Amino acid sequence: MPAKVTSYDRNNIFAKILRGELPSKKIYEDDFALAFHDIHPKAAIHVLVIPKGEYVSFVDFTALAPPELQAGFWRAVGAVARKLGVEDGFRLASNIGPGGGQVVFHFHVHVVSGPRP
Ligand code: 5GP
Repeated sequence: MPAKVTSYDRNNIFAKILRGELPSKKIYEDDFALAFHDIHPKAAIHVLVIPKGEYVSFVDFTALAPPELQAGFWRAVGAVARKLGVEDGFRLASNIGPGGGQVVFHFHVHVVSGPRP
């Protein structure tokens, strides 16, 4: 089993995107979340939604984030799906921890829709 990631690295790629230090194809932003296209899409639509806060994973986020941020984040995920026009058919996924296939250790949700390429 790969090593557990317990502390947040402020230099992870998504932290840099949040700070505007790296570019992204942004599709949605509000006070709680930012959404942008995945750089290596695994389907016709593949967008990542990240909270504006330093949380390693879903487990970390749901345990530690203030209720307002948790509610705002999930509302933003819904807003992203509506903005993409996929609300009739899409998948939400979050890889959690190295053992769950997580590669970037800033909590994120994949919004995926459409036939796989
Ligand atoms: P996970 O951590 O859930 O396994 O996946 C991380 C996702 O981030 C992958 O689907 C990968 O393609 C995407 N990704 C990695 N680096 C970048 C980047 O610099 N920009 C964007 N937009 N996506 C990235």
